[in-house]
Amino acid sequence: MEDRRNLIGLSRAQLEAELAAIGLEKFRARQLWHWIYFRGATDFAAMTTLAKSARAALAERFFVGRPEASRDMQSIDGTRKWLLKWGDGQEVECVHIPETDRGTLCVSSQVGCTLTCRFCHTGTQKLVRNLAPDEIVGQVLLARDKLGEWPSPDDGRQISNIVMMGMGEPLYNLDNVIPALKIVMDGEGISISKRRITLSTAGVVPQMKRCGQELGVNLAVSLHAVTDEIRDRIVPLNKKYPIAELMQACRDYPGANNARRITFEYVMLKGVNDSPADARALVRLIRGIPAKINLIPFNPWPGAPFECPDDRAIKAFADIVFEAGYAAPVRTPRGRDILAACGQLKSDSQKLRKSEVLRLQAEAAAVQAAKEAGLALS
Ligand code: SAH
Repeated sequence: MEDRRNLIGLSRAQLEAELAAIGLEKFRARQLWHWIYFRGATDFAAMTTLAKSARAALAERFFVGRPEASRDMQSIDGTRKWLLKWGDGQEVECVHIPETDRGTLCVSSQVGCTLTCRFCHTGTQKLVRNLAPDEIVGQVLLARDKLGEWPSPDDGRQISNIVMMGMGEPLYNLDNVIPALKIVMDGEGISISKRRITLSTAGVVPQMKRCGQELGVNLAVSLHAVTDEIRDRIVPLNKKYPIAELMQACRDYPGANNARRITFEYVMLKGVNDSPADARALVRLIRGIPAKINLIPFNPWPGAPFECPDDRAIKAFADIVFEAGYAAPVRTPRGRDILAACGQLKSDSQKLRKSEVLRLQAEAAAVQAAKEAGLALS
């Protein structure tokens, strides 16, 4: 049994208190922070700005932890997915999505999820538990280890952005998500600014304000339907916090303005929410909110009861929203073949049929080819 304490996940103040308890001055905490979060060091022996005796004292009582990557998968499009294992054997997934001008890490907040959104694979897995701050930060640290991104680069980062869009509902675990993201945002460490962090919620209305006030990160709202009747069916949380309340919470979100818009995510489900009338209703619904819309083509998973609309239907929908004055990018699916795309994550190993994997890979290759030929729409 490990009886030393993991330093990852402690706030600066907690770290100072731990060091004070073994007679180390406050500025040592700052040095340690630099080693851990700026340089990515895990071995006290390498922390040469600390006296040898201090390093030994630290190593006796503490460690700098990492999750174990029990699986490491790479998509045909360069997306990478890690299955991470914690001390109690529980697992979550974490995904890196490289793009030409940025790289995004999709981070999980819970093992499983309570929400049971009908189109979401994670939703078929019961909630096991919340992730602790060290487990949330640990996903970023491990991804940086794997991508060789230490010390924190000034620019050209492979992990320039973070989205809290992995497994779980982050606003049901805000007590741990807040300290974790504060560590990630700290300018002397990992240093990813709040402007480059987006937290996605299915609409936990009472927690939205606190998220804005204490973190000030970008907010994404998984809207997915324009009437309570349909949203009740596909996002059951809507029965608790219906659309009108959700829209009011968006209007009230601290810091939302034209420069920092709220993103509304809208998963396109064939025959469910994809008609031109839905698009027009969507525009009416968000009127007055500084907003952009992300249209997410439905990502399939084994046994899913939905289908993705065809490209023409998606484009017609996007055009209506765009003409009403809103940015409405259609998200290029990434990592579908390794079940790493939105809503495909699940900790138990599940596999797509080989034929399905081949079809998705062919699709991804076609998109890539179109991009290279400069024909891509977005
Ligand atoms: N619980 C949070 C965080 C999850 S974010 C939330 O609901 O916002 C993951 C995003 O992917 C959400 O917008 C979710 O609704 C969407 N999603 C889930 N399943 C999907 C699927 N099969 N295809 C496309 N998007 C999906």
